[in-house]
Amino acid sequence: MAKIAATAMFAVVALIAIIAAAVSGVVAAIFGGGNSTASSQPSPAALADIPGNYLALYQQAATTCSGLDWTILAAVGKIETNHGRLNADGVHSGENFAHAGGPMQFLQPTFRWVLDQSAKQGKHIPPGGSTPPSRYNVHDAIYAASFYLCMSGADRGDLYGAIFTYNHADWYVRKVLDQANAYKAAQQSAPQQGGWTVPARGTCTSGFGSRGGEFHRGQDIAAPIGTPIVAASSGTVIDSGPATGYGLWVRIEHANGVITTYGHNEHNQVHVGQKVQVGQLIAEVGNRGESTGSHLHFQIDVGNQSVDPVAFYHDQSAPRLCGQSQLGP
Ligand SMILES: [Zn+2]
Repeated sequence: MAKIAATAMFAVVALIAIIAAAVSGVVAAIFGGGNSTASSQPSPAALADIPGNYLALYQQAATTCSGLDWTILAAVGKIETNHGRLNADGVHSGENFAHAGGPMQFLQPTFRWVLDQSAKQGKHIPPGGSTPPSRYNVHDAIYAASFYLCMSGADRGDLYGAIFTYNHADWYVRKVLDQANAYKAAQQSAPQQGGWTVPARGTCTSGFGSRGGEFHRGQDIAAPIGTPIVAASSGTVIDSGPATGYGLWVRIEHANGVITTYGHNEHNQVHVGQKVQVGQLIAEVGNRGESTGSHLHFQIDVGNQSVDPVAFYHDQSAPRLCGQSQLGP
């Protein structure tokens, strides 16, 4: 019995590790996590929205943490207090109902704890703020937020966990990641391999073609619920919401009349009209609609005609959509 329990436990731990690796892999792909030193450039939206002194502080403070892009800090500052512009209790003085204060909305005990823990690792807020440091001082608050996100997982590539620690809600994490994306300028260089990437890591199961008397219009990729789904190529979101059979879907229109569809999703992270970049997080794998197991239904339509995604990827010189684990249609 003990052996069975141990095996089952190992399977659970392994699965969690796989999911965590998949999530951090995608987040790293989007935000250049890990040991990447190249921070992203501000988008026009970021320059229009973020006050100059805040932008400079977000960029400087982020350099203290190898896995943290400044856009994440800026997104937290946007959502917490609109970069200090929020006119409410606890932004410039006092506390709100939850005892949070300052532009990055720290609880006083958390602020002290973060600075104490960082000091033990030799990390200190550089000169330029209050003496002693204050959560109401913009300089101090942004550096403390950077330290906090770093020690909460950003330093080891767990951006999701780091943001979740800041505010324990999945909607909050998604909102921060979404805002960070909007603050990040589009990549200067054209994406490699025809501008296409594999939308989800998993195992190719049902392929394009006849299936039990019906015609299957896409490629199924089996993956655990919550596995990130990214835009296969850059484009504009034309549908995001419930759809008959697909449960919850996202559809993206690309150049040359090509439309990609992502079905059975657990959550969608984009809205209609949104411009998305290749590789950008758009949804998470689920098991909604006419689905008999957690998977992504990935469909490509060219001029209202569904085509075989595997062949399409081959023709575009894109990465292989399905590896050796493909089980065939
Ligand atoms: Zn399918």
